[in-house]
Amino acid sequence: MTGLKDRIKARIAAQGPLTVAEYMATCLGDPDEGYYTTRDPFGEKGDFITAPEVSQMFGELVGAACLSAWEALGRPERFELVELGPGRGTLMADLLRVAALRPAFVDAARLNLVETSPHLRQVQTETLQASPLKPHFCERFADVPDGPMILVANEFFDALPIHQFMRTPEGWRERCIGLSAEGHLTFGAGTARLPEAAIPASIASAPAGAICETQPAANAIAEDIGRRIADHGGAALIIDYGYLKTAPGDTLQALYRHAFDPVLAHPGDADLTAHVNFEALAAAAVSAGATALPPLTQGDFLLRSGLLERAGALGAGKSHGEQEAIRDAVERLAAPDRMGDLFKVLALTSSGLAFPPFDSAR
Ligand code: SAH
Repeated sequence: MTGLKDRIKARIAAQGPLTVAEYMATCLGDPDEGYYTTRDPFGEKGDFITAPEVSQMFGELVGAACLSAWEALGRPERFELVELGPGRGTLMADLLRVAALRPAFVDAARLNLVETSPHLRQVQTETLQASPLKPHFCERFADVPDGPMILVANEFFDALPIHQFMRTPEGWRERCIGLSAEGHLTFGAGTARLPEAAIPASIASAPAGAICETQPAANAIAEDIGRRIADHGGAALIIDYGYLKTAPGDTLQALYRHAFDPVLAHPGDADLTAHVNFEALAAAAVSAGATALPPLTQGDFLLRSGLLERAGALGAGKSHGEQEAIRDAVERLAAPDRMGDLFKVLALTSSGLAFPPFDSAR
């Protein structure tokens, strides 16, 4: 049993059940024993491998999209380049290597990394040592300076706390974590209700026992991004696994040493995520004045951005083994049954901005 599990139990015993959001926030962000606070969870030795860690091509193509956004914005002389949750800093290092081909982009950019984990901040600083920009660290997105902005976020929003509600005969009641008679962590229905007015039509007819999720923390950040973009001009690329239309379902999942794990089994030692509701994310940004372009799957985004051409160039003159590894990375990133379909890419822009490879807003 982890120390954190004991502390969570003691807290429940003293103060009552935790919401799923409180549980997630504690497991991931506890200052002493939170998952992200205490470790580097990425790569073969960690619990999961993210797209930038699969291949440099991912960050390079995201970098090319950022360059085209900067062109479309009229090459602002000063802008905030922002990454939310940069992990090891790999995506940003690959992005900046491409961006460095356009020195005016680099000269205009101020690099802001939004990262809560002191350990990962250090890893990011090391990864970016040879990059042309030195990072300014922000605790929260709200701390990023105002101004024209180009923002990227890969697998950031899935780590933000969600709430879950269960359909019961008395309406949608918040799903909570309490203690069983034997003293184990267990799910149950709490007393809080989802207000009828907040229930989208697409879940209103869900049967008893159904679960629906809300993501107020993610939506609040999307709204803030939307406001900045609407006020000062800019573009954001949000990449994550998730769904395009609001629907009932329990997407809370724990990953422990590359395998799914019961959500309540290893608090603080397992990664805990939820699928992102892209419809809600886009609506939050649009409510603040930004434009949300029709989202693409990660596979479509990468292929439209020139993944195959980049793979060909990268493999030219390399050994058979290296070419094989590049082909494998292409599969992994873009094939529909790998990351290609589950991951989505949402582009937010200021009004009227053309942002290839996305189609313009309908
Ligand atoms: N983008 C990286 C890492 C994804 S993991 C990649 O693709 O490899 C999630 C990242 O978000 C980690 O860096 C984690 O420390 C950070 N993070 C999680 N919750 C956060 C929060 N509330 N505020 C800021 N950063 C957070």
